[in-house]
Amino acid sequence: MTDYQRFYRNEGDYPRLDGEGACRRLSAAIACRTVNGTPGCDGEFKKLRQLIHDSYPAVASAAVTETVGRSLLIHIEGRDENLKPVLFMSHMDVVGVEAGTEGDWTYPPFSGEIARGYIWGRGALDIKCQVLGVLEAAEYLLNLGCRPERDVYLAFGEDEETFNTGALAMAKLLESRGVQLEFLLDEGGGNIESGAVYCAPEQNVCQIHLAEKGYADLSLTARGKGGHSSNPFGGSSLEHISRAISAVCATAQDADMPQALEQCLRALTPYVTEEPLKSLIQDIPGNSRAIMKYCASVKELFPLTATTIAPTMISGGSPACNVLPQDIKANINFRLIPGDSVDKLKERCTKALEGIAVKADFVQANDPSRLSEASGYGYEKLLEAMSYYYNNVVFIPSISAGATDARQYENICSACLRCSPFLSQASEVAGLVHGTNERIAQRSYIQGIRVLIRIMERACGFTSEN
Ligand SMILES: [Zn+2]
Repeated sequence: MTDYQRFYRNEGDYPRLDGEGACRRLSAAIACRTVNGTPGCDGEFKKLRQLIHDSYPAVASAAVTETVGRSLLIHIEGRDENLKPVLFMSHMDVVGVEAGTEGDWTYPPFSGEIARGYIWGRGALDIKCQVLGVLEAAEYLLNLGCRPERDVYLAFGEDEETFNTGALAMAKLLESRGVQLEFLLDEGGGNIESGAVYCAPEQNVCQIHLAEKGYADLSLTARGKGGHSSNPFGGSSLEHISRAISAVCATAQDADMPQALEQCLRALTPYVTEEPLKSLIQDIPGNSRAIMKYCASVKELFPLTATTIAPTMISGGSPACNVLPQDIKANINFRLIPGDSVDKLKERCTKALEGIAVKADFVQANDPSRLSEASGYGYEKLLEAMSYYYNNVVFIPSISAGATDARQYENICSACLRCSPFLSQASEVAGLVHGTNERIAQRSYIQGIRVLIRIMERACGFTSEN
């Protein structure tokens, strides 16, 4: 037993749940190499869709399944059309394995090996566990002869790791049909972490993401013709690009406290035992500047405090110390804090780059998502089920520093909840997502399925027909 599994409880529930079979099905899904941009990947998506169809016969017969592009939209009709549907989402694509690292894996990355208590392979954590886990839950309930009270959608995107077109296409399709969701559940959080960074060292926490930061890439090009370095008249391209990068980095600014951070601190208040937060948290609005200053000084909390600015790529430069460089390109990556916007960011960058001889283009940019409430029907059902299966963990509202697909559904859903129910210890899975030896504990996977069954039962009104 790994240490974090002491948080698990009620593992005896749903005795008819076929845990071993569930692990085998996840293993088979991992063996489908759904890596976008690789040869044959269309066929791999097809293989995965077929596997889903064949592995979940009750879902296949009770639901209407549509292939949207290469994504999968499954609709289980409910008994009461006046109730808003619930959507369980995830993505079928995975990232590739970095060339040259295949040999570092204990088991081959697409083997789906089941060994030592784990299911191994790319996608085990990100996030075929949630695709298959959602299907396991629906299959379990349908096999008991249950039907949902409200409509249930299962939506599995094809390109969360790249272009996010699959989720958007499904969201638009549902919107065109007039569907408005009660809530949706997507990937996010999923880790048991120490509360130490929140000055609550005796407590363990798990994040429920209620918003996603925005994303932008700024491409910079400085022109240079080369030549002898003895006459850098007008400055070298390297000088210009360096000035541009430092000018953009200097636009970093303090942000107002995001609402999700305030909600997070409120949830944690009873557990905060150490300074400086112990005193500051007594009056969160009054101390918001001091709280933000503290958070910005802690690595784990820093992304919650600002639009981050990270120069990530540079190419060019001279091959010799006495030769002037030719064209140099650089990229700066931004993650926008809720409250900031792409328009404001562009304005700041344009102003900062005034008079500097570089060409600047935003190649990709999207605003932060809206913030879902840390209350309401979906949030309460999620919290209830998570707390029922995980003991002594405080669930805290938070913001995802990365991006996922949930924001694509904002037009049809005001409660986009991002929380993966397969809890593991943050320190154990650190580096595994998108990394070598990605794997999920069998026990975590099966416990997560129990959470999903409970959410479906309680939030979607699955009840027996007889
Ligand atoms: Zn993912």
